[in-house]
Amino acid sequence: MNCPACRSKTVEQGFEGSRGAKVLLDVCPTCHGLWFDAKESIQLSSNGVLRLFRQMHGHKDEHYRLKEPLACPRCRATLTKTQDLARSNRFQYFRCPNEHGHFITFFQFLREKGIVRSLNAKELAELKKHVQHLQCSDCGDPISLETDSACPRCRAPLCILDPKALGATVEGLNPAAVAAGVVAPAVAAQILMEHMKLDGFFRKIDSQVQAASTSVGTTPIADSSSAETVAEVVETGVEAIDLLDVGIDFFFDIASGIGDLF
Ligand SMILES: [Zn+2]
Ligand SMILES: [Zn+2]
Ligand SMILES: [Zn+2]
Repeated sequence: MNCPACRSKTVEQGFEGSRGAKVLLDVCPTCHGLWFDAKESIQLSSNGVLRLFRQMHGHKDEHYRLKEPLACPRCRATLTKTQDLARSNRFQYFRCPNEHGHFITFFQFLREKGIVRSLNAKELAELKKHVQHLQCSDCGDPISLETDSACPRCRAPLCILDPKALGATVEGLNPAAVAAGVVAPAVAAQILMEHMKLDGFFRKIDSQVQAASTSVGTTPIADSSSAETVAEVVETGVEAIDLLDVGIDFFFDIASGIGDLF
């Protein structure tokens, strides 16, 4: 099928579901959106979530701005934008009114799973000491920390990976599915949580900002309506970073030091 958001051909892939079931998802290799068929109501297991997470890791593609309305890939009906709440995280997705399934961006999927959480005021103040401009983790638009605490375009909040939630997910890994000879999931979860504390994360940001400022600035914004904001970002000489990308890099840096967990 074609991705409802960017029209690229999606790739159908199986992921581990709860109770040993297999969940087939249509994953978009371009915008990293996910399509869940209505029958795919089985929840992904921890193994499934982390495998999907790893697959998305390393993508440095340009962000894709959703252009609504989106059409159902099965029946072409306009998908209904739906707001939902999971573990006090607000997230949104687009569902077919004829119940063929739903489309969700990778960022919103992580919101739903509770793997990312919004920054609190204290963390936001600390973050401002390290960086002035960010890139929205959902749509890629620039965010100025001087004036905004959410994306001015799509309203996505500033989010970071939640070490606790990631730890709990790693702890939920099926030990039988974990490669033999590596540490137990519970131990790995402890190590991850210990290392993913905020000060470590801010050090990671500093190194990314440095790396970005040495590469001469192209900003990944394709739309001419953002010309001024592009100019503004380029002027600072620093390519705006995405907290989610930094967090995922950070997570895999640590995880790779632990062993082949998933
Ligand atoms: Zn797509
Ligand atoms: Zn439909
Ligand atoms: Zn946005």
